[in-house]
Amino acid sequence: MMTTDSLKKEIIRLKHEKHAVILGHYYQIDDIQELSDYIGDSLALAQEAQRTEAPIIVFCGVHFMAETAKILNPERKVLLPDVAASCSLAESCTGEDLRRFKQQHPGHYVVSYVNCSAAVKAESDLICTSGNAEQLINALPKDQKIIFAPDKNLGSYINYKTGRNMVLWDGVCTVHDQLEAEGILKLKQENPDALVVAHPECNAAVLAVSDFIGSTKAMLGYIEKSPCKRFIVSTESGILYEMRKNNPEKEFIAVSGKDTCSCLDCSYMKMNTLEKLYRCLRDETPEIEMDRDMIEKAKLPIVRMLDMSKQLGIIK
Ligand code: SF4
Repeated sequence: MMTTDSLKKEIIRLKHEKHAVILGHYYQIDDIQELSDYIGDSLALAQEAQRTEAPIIVFCGVHFMAETAKILNPERKVLLPDVAASCSLAESCTGEDLRRFKQQHPGHYVVSYVNCSAAVKAESDLICTSGNAEQLINALPKDQKIIFAPDKNLGSYINYKTGRNMVLWDGVCTVHDQLEAEGILKLKQENPDALVVAHPECNAAVLAVSDFIGSTKAMLGYIEKSPCKRFIVSTESGILYEMRKNNPEKEFIAVSGKDTCSCLDCSYMKMNTLEKLYRCLRDETPEIEMDRDMIEKAKLPIVRMLDMSKQLGIIK
């Protein structure tokens, strides 16, 4: 069995030898974040996947993210260390489910959160992330009827922020949705000098007791600028690595999941390990393979999102 150090050395050697790029999500284990060429949230990684010229993209995240990278780079080899790394949101809605939902709501424009399968993207008019959803929805005509899939928590938060009445698909991120307001309020009482930052995938009760609500990137920006020294972090624990790295003088209090004293971990995200990353680079498998027709259909709403985000000045 290889040691952590020798695995890291081999991963770096193979990455250079094969001219591969490693894209890592903020929720990956610390060791993978350390080895990633780019670390980011869904929007930043989708952009990076669009920009890269590397022949091999190793996507350290979950399946729908690697699919997005493949959709934006059909000619490149996209690898995912553990192909079973899924997502409760992506699993909550299939392309067929969304097609039926659209039939029940004729005349609606379909906006899907990026946390969905390629088949759902192919049924959508526009993709959004937690970092751009509010601005993209605001940019749509006020009288436009909208379906929002698959995250009902994010959708209801965007309804609240924009004053819209989007029809919501009934899906949740099981990691964020398990948080309860009572637990956050208890932590606030114990740490009265700390501010609560929360991801909009949390339920409305948790968001109501939070001081700042935003995407992973927005939370990082807020913490860096804030004069406050202590934060209660209502999101997946992987982000603590970047928060601590960027703010060594600040303290972060991780929330725990329901009925557990452990950190809030996404079991799908944590399926990628150093060992699997090493084998994936060495053997160039598992590879994301997709039907050309599906790629073309799923690409349209993603490119629309990226174009609108540039026009609105959200990204460069
Ligand atoms: S944290 Fe939630 S939304 Fe993100 S991959 Fe895990 S289950 Fe999906």
